[in-house]
Amino acid sequence: MRIIVTIKQVPDTNEVRLDPRTGTLIREGVPSIINPEDKNAIEAALCLREQVGGEVVVISMGPPQADDALREALAMGVDRAILLTDRAFAGADTWATATTLALAVKKLAPYDLILGGRQAIDGDTAQVGPQMAEYLGVPQVTYVREFTVANGHVRATRALEDGHEVLETALPALLTITKEANKPRYPSAPGIFRAYREQTVERWGAAEIGADPEGVGLKGSPTQVKRSFSPPPKEPGEVIKAAPAEAAKQLIGRMKQKNLL
Ligand SMILES: Cc1cc2nc3c(=O)[nH]c(=O)nc-3n(C[C@H](O)[C@H](O)[C@H](O)COP(=O)(O)OP(=O)(O)OC[C@H]3O[C@@H](n4cnc5c(N)ncnc54)[C@H](O)[C@@H]3O)c2cc1C
Repeated sequence: MRIIVTIKQVPDTNEVRLDPRTGTLIREGVPSIINPEDKNAIEAALCLREQVGGEVVVISMGPPQADDALREALAMGVDRAILLTDRAFAGADTWATATTLALAVKKLAPYDLILGGRQAIDGDTAQVGPQMAEYLGVPQVTYVREFTVANGHVRATRALEDGHEVLETALPALLTITKEANKPRYPSAPGIFRAYREQTVERWGAAEIGADPEGVGLKGSPTQVKRSFSPPPKEPGEVIKAAPAEAAKQLIGRMKQKNLL
């Protein structure tokens, strides 16, 4: 079984700051990590490989420093790591990211399962997985917290706000994995040694995946960002310091002033 996992290198913070002048992310001085739910996807792929055999291939699109994320995945135990890196990929929106990743997946065919995180902690759109599935024409199940594979089918439990649903589909399929799915393993010491001393991270550019330079990166991005900004901080609340009956009276007065009552 060939399992492909898409991983994104993200800044190690939930507090992504924006440059108010350019509207772009401030990445300087922020250490990078593998997007947390992508680690859950790697863990799920490794567990499946342990059960049924096969290979796990991780791919990431990003600048050369995304090599670190791929080495960490190798240290966790994946078999092969590919970095999609090319100046032509710069400025990609989610669609151009998804189509670039999908071209790499096509090159890796035949494959059985594509796993990704539910959502990246910086971009936060949760669009890349579903867009890849659409582009590749494979079934998708999002928000997966548990799955099994048997007889050419995957059976996945999908988390919903008020419960869960169980879906079954034929392989190949794409699943996006949530943090509830498992606890990602730590890289082992021999794994780290192998990843940095013996294994290689393959590098593919636009030519290697047969991408039209006009269809990737900024040129292949239909989204136009008009403006990005951080919302102004909320004003501090007011504490009414008085005996309970008086405090209630004052509170009612304030609410009436604001037409809330
Ligand atoms: C108009 C526009 C311009 C942009 N320009 C830039 C830019 O110049 N530079 C820049 O860094 N970003 C840029 N971005 C952001 C970039 O498009 C997103 O970071 C990227 O498409 C992933 O979207 P997301 O973070 O919302 O991922 P999500 O859709 O939330 O991620 C879901 C899953 O998809 C997979 N995934 C997502 N991204 C990747 C990836 N790169 N490699 C492998 N797997 C991945 C992972 O499994 C991840 O868990 C731009 C966005 C827009 C809309």
